[in-house]
Amino acid sequence: MLFSQLSKSWDLIIIGGGITGAGVFREAARMNLKVLLIEQRDFAWGTSSRSSKLIHGGLRYLREGQFLLTREAVQERERLLKEAPGLVEPLEFLVPVYKDRGPGKWMLEAGLSLYDLIAYKRQHRFYPPEEFFQLAPHLDQKLLEGGFLFHDAQVDDARLVLRLIQEGISCGGVALNYTSASKLLHSADGTVNGVRVEEAETGIRQDMTCRLVVNATGIWAERFQSPPDSHLHLRPLRGSHLVYSRRALPFDRAISFIHPDDGRAQFIIPWEGAVVVGTTDLDHHQDLDGEPQTTAEEVIYLVKGLARLLPALDFSLQHCRSAWAGIRPVLSKGEVSPSHESRQHMVWEKKGLVTVTGGKLTIFRKMARDVLKSMKPYITEVALPDESDPALFPIPDTPASDVGLPEDPWRILRGRYGSRATELVTEARKEDLAPIPDTRTLWAELAFAARNEQVKHLDDLLLRRVRIGLQSPRGGKAHMKRIQKLCRPYLDWNGARWKNEIRRYGRIWESAYALPPGLSAHLPDHKPGSISRIKRLLETVTCKTHRSIDLLSL
Ligand SMILES: Cc1cc2nc3c(=O)[nH]c(=O)nc-3n(C[C@H](O)[C@H](O)[C@H](O)COP(=O)(O)OP(=O)(O)OC[C@H]3O[C@@H](n4cnc5c(N)ncnc54)[C@H](O)[C@@H]3O)c2cc1C
Repeated sequence: MLFSQLSKSWDLIIIGGGITGAGVFREAARMNLKVLLIEQRDFAWGTSSRSSKLIHGGLRYLREGQFLLTREAVQERERLLKEAPGLVEPLEFLVPVYKDRGPGKWMLEAGLSLYDLIAYKRQHRFYPPEEFFQLAPHLDQKLLEGGFLFHDAQVDDARLVLRLIQEGISCGGVALNYTSASKLLHSADGTVNGVRVEEAETGIRQDMTCRLVVNATGIWAERFQSPPDSHLHLRPLRGSHLVYSRRALPFDRAISFIHPDDGRAQFIIPWEGAVVVGTTDLDHHQDLDGEPQTTAEEVIYLVKGLARLLPALDFSLQHCRSAWAGIRPVLSKGEVSPSHESRQHMVWEKKGLVTVTGGKLTIFRKMARDVLKSMKPYITEVALPDESDPALFPIPDTPASDVGLPEDPWRILRGRYGSRATELVTEARKEDLAPIPDTRTLWAELAFAARNEQVKHLDDLLLRRVRIGLQSPRGGKAHMKRIQKLCRPYLDWNGARWKNEIRRYGRIWESAYALPPGLSAHLPDHKPGSISRIKRLLETVTCKTHRSIDLLSL
C-alpha cells in the first residue's frame, strides 16, 4: 500500500521497530487494535540487531543482587525455549574456575544453584580440571581448579524482531520501515493525540491521529519524553563484539570467563559457523544517529582477554570476520560505572504518551505487557491477552521429510519464518535450499526476504534479514553475484541502483562492521600471525580513545 493511501487515524502508533516496539506491536495487533508501527531506518536497525544474542537470566545480575531481573529473565528463557524452537536454541556454557582470578568454586556453585532453582531444573555440573579441559581444550591450564557447565539460550535477535512484526501484520497491524516520527501532535489541553510521520524515500509527511502513542525508541527515547525523575537520564552504553571463524576459536560450547584487566565477565559464543567474543561496556560518545563503531581500544581489550584465557591458540585478527557494537539504553543517575548500571526496564506514561526503555531482548514479552497495561486509561474496551498465551504463534508440526529438508535446517527455518517457512521452501529452487558457506542460512532465504520482508536496501538484506554481513568473510562480498541473481526478480532495482546499493553496503560494512581503521593500518597484509605477532602489532596501535592500555601485560 502507498504511504499516501494509509489510514490517518489509529488506536495506537508505536515509534521504533526494535524488539520493544515489535513486542508491543504483536500484542496490540492480537488485541484487534488498529495499530501502526513506524521505524526510522530498518526493522531492528538499532540495538536489537547488535546485541550479544543471548536469551538468558544474566548470571552476573545475581552477583549484583538484581534477583528479580534474573528471575523474570530465566522464566522467559524457559518459555521461549519451548515456544520458539529453531529461533531460540539451547546453549551450553562453560565457566572455568581459577585459583588466582574470578569468583571461586563455592560462590559459582551458589549462584548456579539459584539460577537452576528459578528454572525448576538442576542443570549445572562441576568438572575437575582434567575433565573440564576435555570439554574446553586450549584453555590456560595453569591454576585451573576445574569448571562448571550450565545452560542458557541463544537467539538471532533481528530475526526475532522480524518474526514478531510478521505475526503482528498477520493479525492486521501495519508496520513500516524507513518511516520516522518527526514530531508529536497535541490536542488543545496538551495531550498527545498523534504523530507527524515522514516516509524517508519520498519525504512525504502525514499527520496521523491516534488514541495513544508508544515511544519505543531505545536510546533515542528522551527525544520524545523526559524520564519522570529529573535525576534520571538515558546513558548510552556501548558493548562491542568480535566475530571469529570457528577454525580460529574451535568451541562448540560457550565459555564465560573473567577479563584480567577489570574483572568483568566476558564470553566466547559459538554462533552458526562463527564464534562471537564480547563484550565491552563503556560510555558511548559517538553520534547517536550514526552506525555505532567498535574502537581500536575495544578490540585490544577483547583480544587481551582471549590471550590470557587461550595462551596456545592462534586467534590473530586475520581470522576475525567482523565486529559490531550495540548501544544499551540505560536509565541512569550517572553515579555508578557502566557495568553496575541496572538493566531493568522502565515504563512511564503522561498525557497520551507511553515511553518504554531499558530492559533486555529476553524479556520483550513482559515489557510489551507492561506497556499495554499502562494504556488502560486511553483504550478501555479491550483486555490484555492471557498471560499463558504463547510468546510466538505455534506452527503446524510438518515433518522435515514432507518438505525434503534435513531436520536441522527445517527447525531453524520454522523458527525464523514461523508459519511462512513452508512457503519459503516450496517457492525455492532445489539448489537454493543449501546453506551459504560458513552459515546456517539457506540461499533461498535471500530471495524470500527480498520478496516478502520490506527490503529497501542491500544492508537490510545482508545485515538483518540474514546475517552473512556478520558471519561471512568481508561481509559476504564473494557472494555478491549470486545474491544479485537470486534477488533481482523481487527488488525492482536497475543496474545503477544495484551498483549504488553495493557501494552503500560496502561503506556501512567498512565503517561499522570491519575492524576499526586504527588496527587495520597496522595489519596491512592480514598475514597469518601468532599471539606474539598480534602483541607486537597491537603494541604499535595508536589508541585514540581515553583509556590507557597496559599492552605489556598481554
Ligand atoms: C552490547 C549489547 C549486548 C546485549 N546483549 C543482550 C543479550 O544477549 N540478551 C538480551 O536479552 N539483551 C541484550 N542486550 C539488550 C537488548 O539488546 C536491548 O535492550 C534491546 O535490543 C533494546 O531494544 P529497543 O527496541 O528498546 O531499542 P532499539 O533496538 O534500539 O530500537 C529502537 C528503534 O527506534 C527507532 N527510532 C528512533 N527514533 C525514531 C523515530 N523518530 N521514528 C521512528 N523510529 C525511531 C530506531 O531506529 C531503532 O531501530 C544487549 C544490549 C547491548 C548494547
